[in-house]
Amino acid sequence: MDRLSVYPVMLTLVPEEIERYAARHSPEESSLLSELVKVTYAQTDAPQMQVGRLEGGLLRLLVRMVQAKAVLEIGTFTGYSALVMAEGLPDDGVLTTLDEDPETTRIAKQYWARSPHGKKIHLMLGDARETLKTLQGPFDLVFIDADKTNYLHYWEVCVPLVRGGGLLVADNVLWSGRVLKPKDEHDRALVEFNKRVHADPRVEAVMLTVRDGVTVAIKR
Ligand code: SAH
Ligand code: CA
Repeated sequence: MDRLSVYPVMLTLVPEEIERYAARHSPEESSLLSELVKVTYAQTDAPQMQVGRLEGGLLRLLVRMVQAKAVLEIGTFTGYSALVMAEGLPDDGVLTTLDEDPETTRIAKQYWARSPHGKKIHLMLGDARETLKTLQGPFDLVFIDADKTNYLHYWEVCVPLVRGGGLLVADNVLWSGRVLKPKDEHDRALVEFNKRVHADPRVEAVMLTVRDGVTVAIKR
């Protein structure tokens, strides 16, 4: 099947019409982001990884709410979430984003270059576990969205890097519902991650059923 014909595949746990209704009543995405969605569907194998309009709108709102100037993202892919968060940053804000895939991030860089917000984005290519060792905080917001088996590791490294009152946001925490009946290592990693975040006294965390599940935690 031609990949474009399956567009848009939506990753959602609420009925798809409800998700679409919610998206339609959230800020419209820029034409550049819409184009990036189409290109991602045409050129990559797992385009549904991209956060999209509804969750993208939420991320940008969170960036604005904490008046973030320094954001860290783990998991760039083709750059949608980075660009939408960069839109919420002031002119002198910086978003550092980590990924190990030179192909998908090449698409990301092309699109960032076409946006006035692209200059705020700094990509660090390589295994995020290694790159993280070189980073210093404080960050106002961290968005965790890379390999699920390392979520807990990313969490433990990132909590100290976030300022008090800053946010940690983790994507796909409901994992299409598989957290209820974990079967493989990814499912189990997310179950363990959710348990640990919920019990972590350093944060106050709420799990939202937006899209594939988004945990938003404020650092105390
Ligand atoms: N936030 C993106 C989607 C990220 S998809 C968006 O909304 O568009 C997850 C990404 O994590 C993939 O691009 C993958 O290459 C990256 N990734 C997976 N494991 C990684 C690792 N160990 N280090 C760095 N990046 C990794
Ligand atoms: Ca994701």
